[in-house]
Parts: sequence; C-alpha cells; structure tokens
Amino acid sequence: MSELYPWQQGNWRQLQAYIQQQRVPQALLFSGLAGQGKRQLSERYAQSLLCQAPLADASACGTCVGCHLFAAQTHPDFLLIEPDEAGKVIGIDKIRQLIVKLALKPQYDAAYRVVIIQPADSMNTASANAFLKCLEEPTERTCLLLISEQPGRLPATIRSRCQKIDCATPAKPLAMTWLQQQGVGDSAELLLNLAQGAPLLAKRYAEQNMLALRQQYFQGWLQLADGKGNLLALAEQWQKQDSVDLAAVLQWMASWVSDIVKCASHADAKLMANPDMKNALQALAERLELKRLYRFYDNVLLTKSQLNTQLNKQLMIEQLLISWSQLNRQ
Ligand SMILES: [Zn+2]
Repeated sequence: MSELYPWQQGNWRQLQAYIQQQRVPQALLFSGLAGQGKRQLSERYAQSLLCQAPLADASACGTCVGCHLFAAQTHPDFLLIEPDEAGKVIGIDKIRQLIVKLALKPQYDAAYRVVIIQPADSMNTASANAFLKCLEEPTERTCLLLISEQPGRLPATIRSRCQKIDCATPAKPLAMTWLQQQGVGDSAELLLNLAQGAPLLAKRYAEQNMLALRQQYFQGWLQLADGKGNLLALAEQWQKQDSVDLAAVLQWMASWVSDIVKCASHADAKLMANPDMKNALQALAERLELKRLYRFYDNVLLTKSQLNTQLNKQLMIEQLLISWSQLNRQ
C-alpha cells in the first residue's frame, strides 16, 4: 500500500471519512505543488476503494484479490490516464477509451471502479470537454481522481464538479524532521527551500545531487553577466539536458533575481532562498538597476509559464539570456 506521509494525516482523515460514511464522491481533485505525494495519496485511496475487505479504518486489507490485482497493476477496474510523455497533453483518444470503459460493467461488484488522471490539467480543450461528459453523466460506483499542480488551468466546469483535496505544503519543521529521517543531511534546509517546501522533491534533489547542478547553472548565468561565455551554446545546453527540468531552472533563476533584490535592500541572509550564493548575488545587487531587475523577473516567470506551450523552447531561453546579458551591460 502507498506510504502515508506524516503531513498527509489530515487529507487521509477526509478520505477515510468518505469511505467509512459511504459518501464516496464521484470526483476528487487532489491539488498542490509537486513533490508532496499527491499521487501516492490518490493511489492509497484508490486501493482502499478497490479492496474487497477494507479494514475498519478504511485502509486496504492488502491480502484480498482486489489488493493483489492493484499491487500487480492489473486491476481491471482501475485505470490510469496520463500523457504518453511528461509535459505532453492527454489527447481525446484516451478520454474516448475511458468513456467506452465506463459504459461497460465493472468486473468486481463488491468494490468501486477507480480512474486516476494525472496531471488532469494536461487535458486539452477537446479532452476536457469529452471528460466533462463523464462528470455530467456519472456511472455508479465510479470514482474519478484528478491530480493537478495547477488546478486553475482546469475548466471551471470540471473543477466545480470535484470535491477538493487540498494537499498543502507541510510546515517546515515536519518536513525537516522527515528529511533527516530519510538521511538527507546538512543541506536539507537549502534543498527544501529549492523545492519550495515540498519534501519529496527535496529528497529527489538530494539523490540527484541537485545542489552541484544548480551551481553549474549559476556559474553559467554569472559568466553571461560578466559578458563572458557563449550565450547560444548555453541556451542549447540548458534546453537539451534532461537531468534538470527547465521549469526548475527558471524557478531557480527567479529566486536568484529575487535574492539580488533582497541584497539590494540589505535584507537578512536568513530571508534569502540561496544563502550559499550570497557573495555573488550581493555583487550583482551593487551594480544592477532594480527597475530593470523587476522587469527581468517578470520575464523569467512569463517564460516559465510558456514552457508547456507550442513555443520554441530554445528560442525562449535564448531571448531570456539575451535580456539578462543586456541588463548587465546597461
Ligand atoms: Zn484488500
């Protein structure tokens, strides 16, 4: 059974209550930042719904046919819908298959039928419209579990038909304790900051040696500020590598800029997201103009929001880096 993380107790109680009171909603929307365990929580709930002999606390028994089939990922009444590749859309063909499947009778009468859609906001307009039909004409004992980091991108007609499971960022001490238990040592706090407070993401960052990678990106960025380095080659390198998500790199860049602003206003190092880079950021703060920095900051966020569109990523990164190097020359 999927692990229940210490910060998910409240969410789990809400889900348990649905099962115990036999008021299982037709559709749930699990929302929250990446790296907090939304998928694991939704799978745990799915297994409980598919279990033929759930325990009194609504957890799955782990031994019945339903549990075995779920663990083997061959449960006929469970369906996972996701894009073929990360970052791509969920096409309408997948939703049509879902509609066909839901029109058939479930294989097991004793339990529910469960569908997980992840990330739900990657449905395109046609898919979302088709999916709306599933919500408007519910099939009995069927639970649709939608997972989204950006629920605002889902049509309001879908959102309004889902019960919300708000997977909030855990309190820092709770996340820190968990990270220490996982063997993430001295850098836990910095990693947690980089992961915007999401513990699972912070742990993954530790495993991927993300602090060293981030340093490499930062050095490349600093070189451009000094009028050195090959901008086009750097943009290509950033765009092509697959060990770091481009969205994460842009998030880091936004945090570097925001720290430069903090340095300029002599804020305490404790308030910085990148205290380990303070000296270099302080030096930039002393020579860059704030007004232009704010504009660049907006530019970084705009680029980040456009990553999942059809726009050419290479070109977007080039333009962003050009504006960064120009900012440094003025
Ligand atoms: Zn079971």
